[in-house]
Amino acid sequence: MSEYSIKCPACGQGNLKVRSMLYPIPFFNELVMFMIDCPACHFSENDVFSAEERRPSRWTIRVDNSSLLNTRVVRSGSGTIRLPDFGIDIEPGPAAESYISNVEGVLLRARPVIESAVNFADDERQRKKGRKILSMIDKAMKGEIPFTLIIEDPAGVSGIIPDDMRLVKYEELSTEEASQLKGAPLWVDELRSDYIERKG
Ligand SMILES: [Zn+2]
Repeated sequence: MSEYSIKCPACGQGNLKVRSMLYPIPFFNELVMFMIDCPACHFSENDVFSAEERRPSRWTIRVDNSSLLNTRVVRSGSGTIRLPDFGIDIEPGPAAESYISNVEGVLLRARPVIESAVNFADDERQRKKGRKILSMIDKAMKGEIPFTLIIEDPAGVSGIIPDDMRLVKYEELSTEEASQLKGAPLWVDELRSDYIERKG
């Protein structure tokens, strides 16, 4: 873990502490998880980036075996998560979390998003549909129903990394496909180039 200070991307003042951690993950040569915290405006964020330039990508895995729930997943601030069996798409946004976790962790984090959608739904039909999705997710977390997980990332930093790479499908996205995805906030790019500069 290394630590250094930069100017805050939100208020331009506070001396931001950046803590970064290098993750040894197959396929990605170097993944940096960082946490920042501004003492002046309390801007706080964590994200993951790759020190090397990567191509926009899509990863797909069919989770048809409960052992695959343990498959390593990297979700960066520019990663879009799709669970087509449940009709769920989680796009990057201010509330989007980035994390290094596993497939089960993805479901666990998707659950409260759907829960709040159920709570804010206007009509009973939508609430019913939401509750049905929640029970499907609970079953999926126990390995009782198979489902597909897709992660797309215009920055190519997100990924699904099983022990056996034959279980996952990796595709590079075209420029057009990548341009339709939501990306990470601009300051992530700044932080990344700053990191590379520091590394020399
Ligand atoms: Zn600040």
